[in-house]
Amino acid sequence: MAALPGGGEARSGQLEMAEAVADVIETGGQLVVQAPTGIGKSLAYLVPAIVSGRTTVVATATKALQDQLATHDLPFLAAHLGRPVSFAVLKGRANYLCLQKAVEIGQGDEQLVLDDVRTDDLGAFGKDLVRVLEWAKESQTGDRADMAFEPRARLWAQVSVTARECPGAVRCPQGEDCFAEAAHERAAAADVIVVNTHLYATHLATGGYLLPEHEVVIFDEAHALEDVAASALGLELNGGRFTALARAIRPLAEEEADTIDAAGTRLAAALEPLRGVRIEPGSLARVFAVADEAIRRGLETARAGNDDDARRTRALKAASSLAEDVAAAAAPTDDDVAWVEGAPGAPVLRMAPVDVGSLLAERLWGSVPAAVLTSATIPSNLPARLGLPSDAKELAVNSPFDHERQALLYCAADLPDPRRPEYEPAMHAELEALIRAAGGRTLALFTSWRAMRAAAEALAPLVPWRVLTQDELPKPALTAAFSSDESSCLFATMGFWQGVDVPGAALSLLVIDKLPFSRPDEPLMQARRERAGAAAFRTIDLPRTAMLLAQGAGRLIRSTTDTGVVAVLDPRLASAGYRWELVRALPPMHRTKERAEVVRFLEALVTA
Ligand code: SF4
Repeated sequence: MAALPGGGEARSGQLEMAEAVADVIETGGQLVVQAPTGIGKSLAYLVPAIVSGRTTVVATATKALQDQLATHDLPFLAAHLGRPVSFAVLKGRANYLCLQKAVEIGQGDEQLVLDDVRTDDLGAFGKDLVRVLEWAKESQTGDRADMAFEPRARLWAQVSVTARECPGAVRCPQGEDCFAEAAHERAAAADVIVVNTHLYATHLATGGYLLPEHEVVIFDEAHALEDVAASALGLELNGGRFTALARAIRPLAEEEADTIDAAGTRLAAALEPLRGVRIEPGSLARVFAVADEAIRRGLETARAGNDDDARRTRALKAASSLAEDVAAAAAPTDDDVAWVEGAPGAPVLRMAPVDVGSLLAERLWGSVPAAVLTSATIPSNLPARLGLPSDAKELAVNSPFDHERQALLYCAADLPDPRRPEYEPAMHAELEALIRAAGGRTLALFTSWRAMRAAAEALAPLVPWRVLTQDELPKPALTAAFSSDESSCLFATMGFWQGVDVPGAALSLLVIDKLPFSRPDEPLMQARRERAGAAAFRTIDLPRTAMLLAQGAGRLIRSTTDTGVVAVLDPRLASAGYRWELVRALPPMHRTKERAEVVRFLEALVTA
């Protein structure tokens, strides 16, 4: 294999993975690959997929990886592989400007735009709207991400449609010029189609119509697939969906629109006191019955008109989809769990299948000839949780890093149990000592926003280095600020346990406050535990915690020249009966419980 981006020659782990991927594409079936950081796993699956000549969908859980594939890895292969490589990124419909809505706005349909806007905001909203519409005239893609400015969510909602509303190109007057349809056509003509995992799972949930036909699917960041699939294969209901439908129906039938609005308000009022609570089947039956009746009246009105009216067909589609979801929420099966979440005043009812394995087995593994699932951290229970056939192949590729030499794993075994009140001040004192020894240069990962803020408040006045927190900036800007100011510290929560890449001395100390166990009352996890019975801790909680801990610890060593310390400030890692299952999932670092050894190690790094 040729020289790879980043300057290195192909390494054996990469070749081993590439050969296994080529094999499963050729023979069919499923392959699960644990591919540690640094092996170049994206090229290890892209090259065999492209060489096979089979249409391949690559699904990523994060936007950062999607961007890396589309702007770096695939263009590199197109330039160097010595054969034509066509690829396309396909996003969900609401990412593209809807030309039909733009036309309706252009025809002076103010109702569509101004309903939701405060009078004192009308000027700014109008100006932004004109900017978006002007951009759409020039844009080749209609993709929101290609705009030079970020439109506010409410504005974008007025110029886009979700798949739930769009009647499809054949029934839409703008269907021929539609941006979303054009993106789909480009994807259908490409050899490699890059999507996010949520879109792929929605494709499965909606009967397989969203994506072009393909023979190979590759899930990168496959550790996220179970949760993403649960979300896409489930549903969500909130007052906003009723408001949106009422707005669509209002020009056709004022009275029905009022009834739908009122049903949405009633649903939101019923959900508000249940935020954070799991819902038992039947407990909201009366509210659902009112909602169902209101939507049915709206549907009848929408059906009674002229089929050529684009607004009417959109309203019809949105009403059908809402009616389906209300019916499903009103009659959950034993395989579903429902709960309410959301901020105060904005409750959302969510329903998800407890076990996505059987759904994936039915809709995916038997339908797409070859599937590759890869991640730096594959939970031990992943094949079972995802319903993979028993003959699915597994491969664990060795890391190119010498973790034993490059990194030290420290467990602060003398700290109090994290569930005790004396834990927090003792943990802050430990954290301060470690940060001082490292000369700043610390990424501290917390299991809650509260713990992150408390630590930042306690330590920022004590240490002479800048302490950044996740409250301050969006993730890319925060990561850039942390990398460029070498002695700075960054305190963050779960969003930074994955997908953060800071090679070099700026990240020499990685601190984890507590073992990242899921909360006992988290509804989906609770339902999975109930189903697992007595084995729940070992089969549900431990594999997930081990995966998250390994993801967090994996932020430290990003290249062969990185060195540093992973410090876990949770004494359970040194004492609990299950500790070895967690330790074994981590890279094989040199281990210690002695703070003095850690301080010496860090001080040596600072003076090196
Ligand atoms: S088909 Fe029509 S309604 Fe659907 S996104 Fe395209 S322009 Fe909009």
